[in-house]
Amino acid sequence: MTSSGAASADLWRAKTRAFVDREVRPIAPAIDRNDRVPDSLLRRLAEERFFGLGIPPEWDGVGGDARSLAAVLEELSAGSAAVAVTVAVHLSVCAAPILTWGTDAQKTRFVRALARGDGVGAFGLSEPDAGSDTARISTRYSTDGDGFVLRGTKMFISNAVTAGVVLVFATKDPALGHAGISAFIVPGGTEGFRVAQRLEKLGLRGSETTELVLDGVRLPPEGMLGPEGSGLKVALGALAGGRVGIAACALGVARSAFEEMQRAIARDDAEWKRARLARAYVEWTSAAALVRAAAERKDAGLPFVTDASSAKLAASRAAVSIASAGLDVAGAEGARAGSAAERLFRDARVFPIVEGTTEIQELILGRQLLDAEPRGNP
Ligand SMILES: Cc1cc2nc3c(=O)[nH]c(=O)nc-3n(C[C@H](O)[C@H](O)[C@H](O)COP(=O)(O)OP(=O)(O)OC[C@H]3O[C@@H](n4cnc5c(N)ncnc54)[C@H](O)[C@@H]3O)c2cc1C
Repeated sequence: MTSSGAASADLWRAKTRAFVDREVRPIAPAIDRNDRVPDSLLRRLAEERFFGLGIPPEWDGVGGDARSLAAVLEELSAGSAAVAVTVAVHLSVCAAPILTWGTDAQKTRFVRALARGDGVGAFGLSEPDAGSDTARISTRYSTDGDGFVLRGTKMFISNAVTAGVVLVFATKDPALGHAGISAFIVPGGTEGFRVAQRLEKLGLRGSETTELVLDGVRLPPEGMLGPEGSGLKVALGALAGGRVGIAACALGVARSAFEEMQRAIARDDAEWKRARLARAYVEWTSAAALVRAAAERKDAGLPFVTDASSAKLAASRAAVSIASAGLDVAGAEGARAGSAAERLFRDARVFPIVEGTTEIQELILGRQLLDAEPRGNP
């Protein structure tokens, strides 16, 4: 790990922590209650350049490595998990794959706008009948002259209401399986593209989750991202990188739940509560070490799929476990709607599901550790 990378991550962490204390934490309960991140906060995130993190200056971004991104997402999430997930999706699974796979023309048009925060980025893979098993997607594309036409329904898509760009994955023919899937860049507001409903959720309320309908969306030839048939590669690469970010978001919730428990114990101390706090500390700091290790390996250009899945598993488990212990420690106060302990528990419980469930992380890890990247002692 280079010290300049660590220094940059420290600077981003300090800047984000101050921003969160000033502009996010005070309105986090309202974001949850109203199920909406205010436009004014989205504008402030853009002004403070959070939407340009990890994007090189030549594409109007502010640079920054995976450690910086992890630090920013952890800090944002410690204030509001919904805000952090909005930024994580925008950067990790929308801007990053366009940077990796896009032509210069695609980067000029879409990455520059994303980096400036002119609309957020979204990622449209899941469907009503295709979640973990992505090869089952049934959104179809056909050719139309030189261009393409998309038809289908996407489900649980974050950021779609305010989207400037949605990456959409579609198949030429479901019988082709993985090889039939390609990625497309759909500008928000394209004719035939419609948010059919906003889905109410247990937690991460404020991070929009929607059903999207693509009803004959016409795209020019340059609407396809990457070579035809490489859609699953685009999606899985984005999700592997995204997992480091989502793990950092879960870590932020784990840390906030730990701090909330400390405050509750300060008000009403007991030996058994101290034992719960001790267990929570080990869970939180172990997860933090795995998130840091995954980001460091990504920055060093080393294989990081094993590390990203380990970090996502550990951080989402830590968030759920610590937030649950926080409810025990808080007693009846924790069960009250609107209490910090209650919101953290609801937010935490969604992390084992998003960007690959716990079971899917275990499948990935099993495959990595036995076939792809066997590891011994760390
Ligand atoms: C808040 C939120 C935001 C989201 N945002 C997006 C987004 O922006 N874009 C997007 O494309 N998707 C998004 N999703 C969808 C998310 O990626 C899927 O929910 C997730 O992949 C799981 O798919 P599923 O819900 O269909 O569950 P299923 O795949 O049906 O899984 C149901 C259960 O079965 C288990 N399971 C499935 N297959 C296996 C297996 N082979 N072995 C063992 N267990 C298995 C799962 O772990 C799970 O417990 C979001 C979801 C949520 C909750």
